[in-house]
Amino acid sequence: MSRQSSVRQTIPAELRYTRQQFDREFPTDDACLEQIKEQRFPGGVAVCQKCEGPRKHYRVAGRTAYACATCGNHIYPLAGTIFEKSTTSLRVWFQAMYLMGSTRCGISAKQIQRETGVTYKTAWRMFRQIRSLLSEPDMQLEGSTVEVDEMYYGGHRKNSTGRLMRGDKGKKSIVVGAVERKGRVICRTATDTTGKTLKGFVKEYVLPKSTVFTDEYSSYAGLDRMDGMEYQHRRVNHESKVYVVGDVHTQTIEGFWSLVKRGIGGVYHSVSQKYLQTYLDEYSFRYNRRASGNLIFPAMLAKVSEKVLSKPSAPVAENQNV
Ligand SMILES: [Zn+2]
Repeated sequence: MSRQSSVRQTIPAELRYTRQQFDREFPTDDACLEQIKEQRFPGGVAVCQKCEGPRKHYRVAGRTAYACATCGNHIYPLAGTIFEKSTTSLRVWFQAMYLMGSTRCGISAKQIQRETGVTYKTAWRMFRQIRSLLSEPDMQLEGSTVEVDEMYYGGHRKNSTGRLMRGDKGKKSIVVGAVERKGRVICRTATDTTGKTLKGFVKEYVLPKSTVFTDEYSSYAGLDRMDGMEYQHRRVNHESKVYVVGDVHTQTIEGFWSLVKRGIGGVYHSVSQKYLQTYLDEYSFRYNRRASGNLIFPAMLAKVSEKVLSKPSAPVAENQNV
């Protein structure tokens, strides 16, 4: 590798999170539990339901519980998280998340199986759970320049390129996506590519007054005439083999589609329609943090405590306002 290219590929020190750092920070299950506890109850302080007030809690040896310093009542930092019912070591979970976060193209359950020694089934289940953390349903694009396009995934049909034809329906999955240039991506599986669906997607995720780039597909017609949205609509004529005219192109979103397709094809081989959205979430999550070096693992970790399921019957665990 030439000196120049090694310099260019170097992630700045503050954005680096190496395997050595991971091993140092999380050598044991206890260290991992402590991390989740700190995320949910910083300093061990949580509202004790018996004392009815904030109390310091201390680790109960040999258990995943922490006890109230005043009355001894237990809290469980893992309650409501993806780890709650798992019999797999917490450190293996962390390792799986680390591996998933440190690749651009994804990693297979087989790789996790090899690296951690869990069964394939366990690795696969862990992946599914971790992916469930990565959806960002409330996200909206804020850039003023957005490309919108659809992707067709899976299935078999005679004409392997281009849009769905009559009769192809149901075999391929449809994905609609929007990306800010030099920014973030949002994509969703869709049931069809009607104007209502595609323009509805734009309306939901793209800010009014944005400039929206699409190809010439007829379903995008009228994008610039939607009530209250005031979009500028620029179209690139792919049919005439024209791909770029000045800044009029959809190459950013097409680049993302090829990343997803290569990733799913190369790593996962195939994905059923049922789970496609969760894979899209995984790729989007990483893509949207591509400027964070490999700090993606800490970002994933943060999601564990952000996405705690509310379970009224769970052991006292949350900062409930009661
Ligand atoms: Zn108490």
